[in-house]
Amino acid sequence: MLDSTTTDSTRAVLSAFGEALEQGDIDRAVGMFADECYWRDLVTFTWNIKTVEGKEQVADMLRHQLATTRPRGWDLAEHEIPTEADGITTAWITFETDLARGYGLMRLKDGRIWTLLTSMVELKGHEEPRGFARPLGARHGAGKHRTTWKEEREAEERDLGYTKQPYVLIVGGGQGGIALGARLRQLGVPTIIVEKNDRPGDSWRNRYKSLCLHDPVWYDHLPYIKFPENWPVFSPKDKIGDWLEMYTKVMELNYWTRTTCKSARYDEAAKEWTVVVDRDGQEVTLKPKQLVLATGMSGKPNMPAFPGMEKFRGDQHHSSKHPGPDAYRGKKCVIVGSNNSAHDIAAALWEHDADVTMVQRSSTHIVRSDTLMEIGLGGLYSEEAVQNGMTTEKADLIFASIPYAILHEFQIPLYEQMKERDKAFYDGLEKAGFQLDWGADGSGLFMKYLRRGSGYYIDIGASQLIIDGQIKLAHGQVREVVEDGLILEDGTKLEADLIVYATGYGSMNGWAADLIGQDVADKVGKCWGLGSDTPKDPGPWEGEQRNMWKPTQQEGLWFHGGNLHQSRHYSQFLALQLKARMEGLPVEVYGLQTVHHLG
Ligand SMILES: Cc1cc2nc3c(=O)[nH]c(=O)nc-3n(C[C@H](O)[C@H](O)[C@H](O)COP(=O)(O)OP(=O)(O)OC[C@H]3O[C@@H](n4cnc5c(N)ncnc54)[C@H](O)[C@@H]3O)c2cc1C
Repeated sequence: MLDSTTTDSTRAVLSAFGEALEQGDIDRAVGMFADECYWRDLVTFTWNIKTVEGKEQVADMLRHQLATTRPRGWDLAEHEIPTEADGITTAWITFETDLARGYGLMRLKDGRIWTLLTSMVELKGHEEPRGFARPLGARHGAGKHRTTWKEEREAEERDLGYTKQPYVLIVGGGQGGIALGARLRQLGVPTIIVEKNDRPGDSWRNRYKSLCLHDPVWYDHLPYIKFPENWPVFSPKDKIGDWLEMYTKVMELNYWTRTTCKSARYDEAAKEWTVVVDRDGQEVTLKPKQLVLATGMSGKPNMPAFPGMEKFRGDQHHSSKHPGPDAYRGKKCVIVGSNNSAHDIAAALWEHDADVTMVQRSSTHIVRSDTLMEIGLGGLYSEEAVQNGMTTEKADLIFASIPYAILHEFQIPLYEQMKERDKAFYDGLEKAGFQLDWGADGSGLFMKYLRRGSGYYIDIGASQLIIDGQIKLAHGQVREVVEDGLILEDGTKLEADLIVYATGYGSMNGWAADLIGQDVADKVGKCWGLGSDTPKDPGPWEGEQRNMWKPTQQEGLWFHGGNLHQSRHYSQFLALQLKARMEGLPVEVYGLQTVHHLG
């Protein structure tokens, strides 16, 4: 329902809220929240990525932050009309603080604030040069010894890292490092991205050859440059690699290929990192103020250590090192694991006439890709959503506005619909002996991704091969590897010419341990997960993803990554946090997370 009464009443709530905040009347402001309430802040109030839950936490946050934030100008966003459905009023809002302009989404229940999202759009006085402020490019007029754009770029590439130090060093030039690098460039933050591979995009190119993105194109856009309208729904991995390479070039990133970060050390007194990199065989020492590890949330392989692995006479490797099926025609292939990579690799091997057995060690959540697209993502990220006027930026904020504490409640009914719609499919899988789950509380794929980043397969065809017995199934843990195969706990022997360990990836602070030291890795603790107290995501409840895109317990150390959607969306907030520090703005972090788990 849309009407001016809703608009008027929502505006009234907003201006009363704004007035209370401006007067520093925290009790009155908190009184405007519902008893069950959530305020998710992306950097504007907390200089953190933080959700406060319940009135007490809202009050605590305001007591710490209100005086320095000094918010004002709360209004309904231009051209947006509040909507009302099922007793909830939803409104896009704008506001500003002393330092920044913000955009947000407010939901009211019975006239009180139920959820509030506040996100930072830009820092005042440090806006990106876009739209009316875009650079002219040409310099009209005449001048002696003028330099061209090309000469200036060449000089920058020559000097940065040698005679001039970058403010930010990003280790890892996958989609995460690239998206963040693009945002920092637009904000004028001198940045180098170091990447050990030969070319931007190789992090995708180097994966197994059958891989296509599992997420659809509408979910995958990078900042600033959207995929064209004819881009395939699911990008083949080499195509996304090419896109990233093109993007890196046209966004003018200082991207050092064939450069491996060897070590990093923080000087607490100088507030500066000393980072040693190997640039194509030459050692270079860099001195950035901020170090971002964008080394991949799916990047540090969990290689198991089964007894007897050294005796195996065939090929064995982690799924991240799997070259593809070509060499294994007619061979016996055993894949340990039953999540995404295991399924993709198994199907490609089957297509190349290999004899394939998948070892399922624990239950797996499976959703069919088309069902997920329609029921799970369709409203926000689909051609229909685009037709209905949904923009990527709005979709990201709507998604971000649902607090993690209640996100599962929104997800469960969707997965119940999926279960019903694909009943015959799931019956077939169970009949084939495949052990299914729907996440600890039935909340499905996205919650599993946020909580543990593993435990699922988005079905694009391998499940039918399992139903039909074309990919064989075995169950249980691996007891040992022998010369010609492996033996499971129950004594079953699986003969193999190839063993693929599709055993997943470790926490990103493992990268910090490798590059900086175990002490720093332990100081910052585990990355990823919400503290949901579900498998592989131990409590206590954090309310946000541990250590991602926000300040950590190690000054000057940041973690960035995730899927393309997260790389796009959260790079905005990480870039603004870095820019604010470079400009010496008074950054008061609220709610720096405490460490409960080491990794
Ligand atoms: C099989 C599979 C399918 C997936 N499908 C999707 C999908 O459809 N959509 C999606 O968004 N995500 C998908 N993901 C997740 C995907 O891996 C991540 O989203 C993405 O790769 C993360 O990007 P990133 O930049 O954080 O890390 P990465 O792409 O892993 O990049 C990290 C980079 O860091 C570099 N690096 C590491 N250490 C160093 C060092 N010491 N010095 C220099 N460089 C270093 C690596 O070479 C690498 O290029 C999938 C993952 C897998 C495994």
